[in-house]
Amino acid sequence: MYEEERRQLVHRLKRFGYVKSEKILQAMEKVPRHEFLPLEARSHAYVDSPIPIGLGQTISAPHMIGIMLEALDPQPGNKVLEIGAGSGYHAALMGELVRPNGKVYTVERLEALGLQARETINRLGFGDVVEVSIADGSAGLAEHAPYDRITVAAAAPAVPRPLEEQLADNGRLLVPVGDRGYQDLILVVRRGDHLERSELGGVVFVPLIGQHGYDNSPLP
Ligand code: SAH
Repeated sequence: MYEEERRQLVHRLKRFGYVKSEKILQAMEKVPRHEFLPLEARSHAYVDSPIPIGLGQTISAPHMIGIMLEALDPQPGNKVLEIGAGSGYHAALMGELVRPNGKVYTVERLEALGLQARETINRLGFGDVVEVSIADGSAGLAEHAPYDRITVAAAAPAVPRPLEEQLADNGRLLVPVGDRGYQDLILVVRRGDHLERSELGGVVFVPLIGQHGYDNSPLP
């Protein structure tokens, strides 16, 4: 279902210059975004827009995921950590990109979303390459560190220190940093003991809630 809509969306992401990498375009053409959405939202799956996935959370717009994948640049064989699994869609795309020998660990704090993401990922055949855990990911996931790539799908008040510590040499960490209304997308690259930071532009994400994120926030 929706193959033609998906193909057209991916074509637009390429034409508008959001995504240049053929491997990323191919992954977006392969992974069925509609399967990650609530039933009533599926007909909007191939509109380039964020979509509510329940519990006050949203799946990012395809162009934003494209921009993030370009900046993160996951390679086959990489070990990747994602904070904020949400629907599991972004994790499945990264799973596709790190195959055959890589692994994506994705962490979600809201149990209902994490369980749903795990079910979708297994149903669509990404269970071998993507592992979903339910926890506060603002402290990272020390048990599988260090990671070649870390991506955060929620807005943090500052770059969480544990994520920098869990980044491998030459690893790349992508995290939206700012207040709860507006953030800058920050890329951190580790060169030995040195961390290089660059700002990639303005973005709007739901808050990262936890020990190294925002605290005392009312649950959505
Ligand atoms: N990447 C997702 C979109 C995620 S929306 C997708 O493809 O659908 C951001 C998610 O981050 C939400 O589901 C939210 O519950 C989660 N989140 C917020 N704070 C978190 C934390 N400390 N640890 C793990 N997940 C968190």
